[in-house]
Amino acid sequence: MTNKDLADLLFPNVTKTIEDYEKIYPERQLKEGTIVSRFAPSPTGRVHMGNLFASFVPEVFARQTDGVFILRIEDTDAKRAIENGIELILDDLKNYNYKIDENPIDGGNYGPYIQTERKEIYDAFAKYLVSIGRAYPCFCSEEDLTNMRSEQEAKKERIGYYGKYAKCRNLTYEEVKAHLDNGDKYVIRLRSQGDFNKKIIFKDLIKGTIELPENDLDQVIIKSDGIPPYAFAHVVDDHLMRVTHVTRDDSYISSVPYHMELWEAFNFKKPKFAHLLPLCIKDGETVRKISKRKDPEAAVSFYHERGIPKEAIKLYFATLLNSNFEEWYLQNQDKSYRDFTFTFNKMSKSGPLFDLDKLLNISRNYISRLTKDEVYDDLLTWSNTYDKDFYNLIIKYKEYTKNILNIERQQKKPRKDYSSYSDIKDQVFYMYDELYNPDNYEWGQITDKKEINTILNLYMEKYYDVSDKDTWFNNIKLLSEELGYAGNMKDYKNNPENYKGSVADVSTVLRVAITSKSMTPDLYEIMRLLGKDRIEERIKKLEKEI
Ligand code: GLU
Repeated sequence: MTNKDLADLLFPNVTKTIEDYEKIYPERQLKEGTIVSRFAPSPTGRVHMGNLFASFVPEVFARQTDGVFILRIEDTDAKRAIENGIELILDDLKNYNYKIDENPIDGGNYGPYIQTERKEIYDAFAKYLVSIGRAYPCFCSEEDLTNMRSEQEAKKERIGYYGKYAKCRNLTYEEVKAHLDNGDKYVIRLRSQGDFNKKIIFKDLIKGTIELPENDLDQVIIKSDGIPPYAFAHVVDDHLMRVTHVTRDDSYISSVPYHMELWEAFNFKKPKFAHLLPLCIKDGETVRKISKRKDPEAAVSFYHERGIPKEAIKLYFATLLNSNFEEWYLQNQDKSYRDFTFTFNKMSKSGPLFDLDKLLNISRNYISRLTKDEVYDDLLTWSNTYDKDFYNLIIKYKEYTKNILNIERQQKKPRKDYSSYSDIKDQVFYMYDELYNPDNYEWGQITDKKEINTILNLYMEKYYDVSDKDTWFNNIKLLSEELGYAGNMKDYKNNPENYKGSVADVSTVLRVAITSKSMTPDLYEIMRLLGKDRIEERIKKLEKEI
């Protein structure tokens, strides 16, 4: 009896051959250098920051080469799967504008994209390995394996199913048939040809050349429930989906020798590998992998609630991905990260450290460069979910709000007041009567109530004029001089003893009287937008209060 007979005995219903599948999923007709990449999560829940970054990387590389980015769901471990897991993942990724060319919901020519729907394919590939003598059925029970392990421990030998411990390696056709007739449970194992004392050398696009002992374990390629474990499934899938670049967590690196043995057993052309270091976070003195359980900032919802633009998060990812991105971006602020050419060799060899302050800074810059309409629209979307009162207010005062958001925006160096959409309300509250009810005025140098009233009254009576910025400022100078303050800073600095203070002190009185804040964007713009009536009203109210 031949290996082929054994293969037919084990897989009587599998009629398609691996050649058939080669035809169903032909080589993609792509230009040299085009990247076909994939993100292959288990459907265990919403995407978190770690996954979002891990999927950003293959997406970016596929896009920049006009390639193909695939979402493949690895659900062979049923215990970990959750209901709706696939929709949630796809939604989250699309929400970040990741372009996913092939996926379980929208389909593609290389599907199915859910591993549990590919059983027929895995069977054909397992059958092939049996037929060439590179795989065999193993009927060892749990108890047999436990005994094997105890023996290995007692003898201080390596643990695993290999060499002389691989009991079922040499079962005859008749023995296998007897087991099957008996209804015994079995798995299919690879017949490894590796030598643990030899090394394999492979190139990782990020880590460089890696040397590891060859695999010599007869690993399980089909479990007793008929489903393959990750390693076997992914080799078949990456091959048939014609993936050129496997980017995945670096925890898989130690399994590469086994994966290599599978690729070679099939004589498949190997893809390139890039093992990604996980996003890390500083925890006191130590640096560790970002954790869904321990770190609130691992959840994507954390950023949505704060109103940090998705584009800013992606810009931040770009800085984590390539060390030279940030410098390029400083010189190309009007461009998208998509215009940059990312390379694997510029990826950090130590875990990228997630730094919220840095992200906020990038976000601040990003928001500062949007147009007032863009900021308004984003603010509307954010507040609609997270601050309904503010949402209603900015709907009511649409143009007015846009003008507020436009203060010191369209200029060479725009103001960088907002690092997120949740910052805005607290910074512009004084522009809305509905929100303006100060219980604290941040007076500066001048705190004397009588003096404050004198300044305000004289200003409103004689110097209020917002027709243009020069006149406005000139009037504040004149007001200052009339009341014994220096009209310009130079005079004041030269002879402070001659003055009660300077025009800066007088301006602060106006600013605080109108907004309650000592620091605001351009006061002239604020006053123009508020208008004389409301300014007068605020000043009158203040007179009574202080
Ligand atoms: N399904 C694996 C995981 O969720 C991904 C492995 C891969 O990308 O090849 O970690």
